[in-house]
Amino acid sequence: MGPGGNCICPNCGKQVAHVRGTPCTQRKCPNCGAQMTRQT
Ligand SMILES: [Zn+2]
Repeated sequence: MGPGGNCICPNCGKQVAHVRGTPCTQRKCPNCGAQMTRQT
């Protein structure tokens, strides 16, 4: 796993840096607005 991890959009595959303290599931994809998930 990476040092900080990424969040990934299950809809379009967009990856963004995970922000500490903000779960990926509370973030929305900047491309399509889908709920993001943690990339493993
Ligand atoms: Zn997306």
